[in-house]
Amino acid sequence: MTAFPIVWYSFGMAKSTRKKLVALVGRPNVGKSTLFNMLTGTRRALVEDTPGLTRDRNYGEVTIRDKSFIVVDTGGFEPTTEDVMLSQMRTQTLVAVEQADIIVFMGDAKAGITPSDYEIVRTLQRTDKTVLYAVNKVDSEKQENFAVDFFGLGVEPIYPVSAITGYGADELIDAILEGIPESISEPAGEPLTKIAVVGRPNTGKSTLINLLLGEERLVANPAPGTTRDSIDTVVKYHGKEYVFIDTAGIRRRARIVDRVEKYSVIKAFQSIDRADIVLVLLDATEGVTDQDARIAGYAYEKGRGVIILLNKWDLVQKDSNTIHAFTAHVREFLKYLQYAPILTLSALKGTRAVKLFGLIEEMESVYRKRVGTAELNKFIEETTTSHPPGMHHKKPIKIYYLTQVRTAPPTFMFFCNYPESIHFSYKRFLENRLREAFDFRGSPLRLVLKKRQ
Ligand code: GDP
Ligand code: GDP
Repeated sequence: MTAFPIVWYSFGMAKSTRKKLVALVGRPNVGKSTLFNMLTGTRRALVEDTPGLTRDRNYGEVTIRDKSFIVVDTGGFEPTTEDVMLSQMRTQTLVAVEQADIIVFMGDAKAGITPSDYEIVRTLQRTDKTVLYAVNKVDSEKQENFAVDFFGLGVEPIYPVSAITGYGADELIDAILEGIPESISEPAGEPLTKIAVVGRPNTGKSTLINLLLGEERLVANPAPGTTRDSIDTVVKYHGKEYVFIDTAGIRRRARIVDRVEKYSVIKAFQSIDRADIVLVLLDATEGVTDQDARIAGYAYEKGRGVIILLNKWDLVQKDSNTIHAFTAHVREFLKYLQYAPILTLSALKGTRAVKLFGLIEEMESVYRKRVGTAELNKFIEETTTSHPPGMHHKKPIKIYYLTQVRTAPPTFMFFCNYPESIHFSYKRFLENRLREAFDFRGSPLRLVLKKRQ
């Protein structure tokens, strides 16, 4: 079926590097987002936050005692009526059961047990996943008796906690961490480039995956420990191996998740977390939607290499200007992703998919490229001479030297006298200059400004 020289096999081992997903479920107002904030508040960004983008409030990474997991607050709907609220809660609970590794049920000690608590708990009792039952708003030891009511649910143990004061939180966190494996380091050797295929429901992800993998091919070279549900696939192209992540999940087309766009976004975030390169699928017949922008924005924030795919190009009425009009539209809505190449294709017909592998190869090499410090210093001297960075009060801002501190994504550290006074637009300018001077086309770059010691 496919025209490319591709061999693929399932990659069992990569599964272990997927971070466990912990879902918080419960009625509105029990304190899910408060607990979410408490858990994720400990997180420290490696490089400074990107201005202009807000972090997704429902999805966050938590690292405690050398263990990391992802926490999802399943709330955040704004139900209009009691009925809508109930049906959304049912869906949330089902999705949590399907997607999460550990589920934390939350009750509200101040409100006591309600019929919907019973309903959620009955659903959770049917899963064989780990479920922890927490009763929130037990702000101190004196209030422990508020939680007693919840023994009536017939589940144990019950964790009385307070998302505000932190009372009891240690016990709950310990119980969560019991289900989280120690973080495992990447296997030695050159790490394989990991590629995520993401997008809203129906943009063509499974069609593309099937095209790239070639549906009829058999498992060629199963890695040891491969299981039927292994979620990643290694694809060999031009003698190089790439890991396509979460492929089984995409192929399986989880029914509930597909109906709930919000969860498809969470799934996309989860894949982006693990990826080096992200293929963002857009439906060319629909243009860029808010959900697309959230997904692409997250990939940008995470510093991933991004390739934007305008899929279903076969359905678009075309004339000589069409491609320019579409490109302008995408650039307008995804402003921050100016560096990302855009490719039109039809996953269904298989057109231009070969070109996609070419783009992936190019992006991979720039994403892992390293530039020597001597070259960089020559560059910074010339650039700041022709375009000085401005003034801090009455003193000139100086950039003394520049070094590349890591690859994937290429990250540069600028040492200067007044880093906080360098204007955002000047930073943008440096980024663009760097990209041109060293041919980092298509790759995200990270710039870190540091005060010289
Ligand atoms: P969600 O709808 O489940 O996400 O609930 P929120 O996190 O928005 O919390 C609902 C309300 O409960 C807010 O007014 C919180 O301040 C309050 N709340 C959350 N956690 C606690 C807690 O541990 N103790 C007390 N006393 N109030 C809490
Ligand atoms: P997913 O939900 O993102 O995995 O999307 P699917 O791969 O299931 O595709 C959704 C629908 O769009 C299916 O009916 C596909 O046949 C169709 N589709 C996917 N890619 C293309 C394309 O390039 N052209 C056309 N015409 N249809 C497509």
